[in-house]
Amino acid sequence: MITMEAKSKAPERNIYAMALEQLDHVAKVMHLDPNIHEYLKYPKRELTVSIPVRMDDGTLKVFTGYRVQHNQALGPSKGGLRFHPDVTLDEVRALAMWMTWKCSVVGLPYGGAKGGVIVDSKKMSKGELERLTRRFTAEINFMIGPEKDIPAPDVYTDAQVMAWIMDTYSMEKGYSVPGVVTGKPICIGGSQGRREATARGALYTMQEACKHLKMNLKGSKAIVQGFGNAGSIAAKLLSDEGVVVVGVSDSSGGIYNEKGLNVDEVIKIKGETGSVMHYSNASKVDRREILLQPCDILVPAAYENQIDEEYARKIHAKIIAEAANGPTTPEADRILHERGVFLIPDILANAGGVTVSYFEWVQDIQALFWSENEINNKLKEIMTRAFANVLKVSLDRKIDMRTAAYVVGVGRVAEALTIRGIYP
Ligand code: NAD
Repeated sequence: MITMEAKSKAPERNIYAMALEQLDHVAKVMHLDPNIHEYLKYPKRELTVSIPVRMDDGTLKVFTGYRVQHNQALGPSKGGLRFHPDVTLDEVRALAMWMTWKCSVVGLPYGGAKGGVIVDSKKMSKGELERLTRRFTAEINFMIGPEKDIPAPDVYTDAQVMAWIMDTYSMEKGYSVPGVVTGKPICIGGSQGRREATARGALYTMQEACKHLKMNLKGSKAIVQGFGNAGSIAAKLLSDEGVVVVGVSDSSGGIYNEKGLNVDEVIKIKGETGSVMHYSNASKVDRREILLQPCDILVPAAYENQIDEEYARKIHAKIIAEAANGPTTPEADRILHERGVFLIPDILANAGGVTVSYFEWVQDIQALFWSENEINNKLKEIMTRAFANVLKVSLDRKIDMRTAAYVVGVGRVAEALTIRGIYP
């Protein structure tokens, strides 16, 4: 018998192997110089740290954390920090590599990095979480900085965690350095629009996809998997656009109603009870099987490896917008492409987050802040331009959207590496 837990668990897949497979594939398609291909397979720098934390009950626990910088050919590296019990070094490596392509595909002057700590942060008190964050920051202190490597929020880290990182780094420098992290609270140098940026950027790409497919966004039906920063705001923005959000899920399960959910109500209930499952006017679905329910647009916004071959054959959606990083396996990619599903790949669909992080960093460095309107207009311009570039490559070369996004992303990094040359 398959238990609920086993069913909802994504298949085991090493996502660094998956990231390398994607790179190998695009290297063939674009006839990438084999030396550059070899160079790009490896992270530039990676650090493993032990993080001793005094727990509230007086005991000491030691956690493991990582920071990986994949590439800095285009500028300082940029990438989120994840607190999750399933973090592995290979996962952080893959996410760092994807950050390199993502920053490049939207034309930002950044390389890619990522960080992670193996921890079940939901079970920690606020004080324990603060001590963990501060000690982790102290351990990776020499590796980060506004000109070197700039962390940001990711799964189970938020603006508060970023504020602790900024404060710890600043204390050690002796002056405030807001540009060391992005996704901070507005009062200490955060940017307007950063909280919504990942979801807003994804929305802009969905609007462009609908135009291309001559499909009406308004009135279409959407499902969002994951109900955190990316997912809950994507659901809210879609519903504001007149999309009928028929299903959502979080780590405890999914809810579905073909007539539509009241997204404001779901957000309120998630805030009050910690789970979308307490929403009453919907049927309960497994957290992963939510992906297979009928809809036009599917937004995976939870975790990697959610859509495998089996799922790719059964998904109903016409458009998949990957707000999450790495939700689709390469085998599933091929099936979705054959089935004519229009996939907006992660490095494009969720690049709104790093784009507004870039705006935040620029504002911090020049100590001059922009309005939310300016931020959203600039974001829209960058996202629609990047979408158009990728779509053009996809149509010209008759390749799927992920491969096209890689052709653009890997291409710019390869050009920078070639012109800079290999030191010494
Ligand atoms: P978050 O911590 O705010 O939310 C994660 C959500 O996913 C939570 O609602 C959690 O309950 C849910 N979840 C976890 N495991 C799940 C599962 N197996 N099935 C269904 N739901 C599950 O994290 P986030 O920042 O929203 O990140 C989500 C995804 O978006 C990640 O892949 C992340 O790398 C990606 N992403 C985030 C940003 C950003 O700016 N926050 C930017 C780009 C990409």
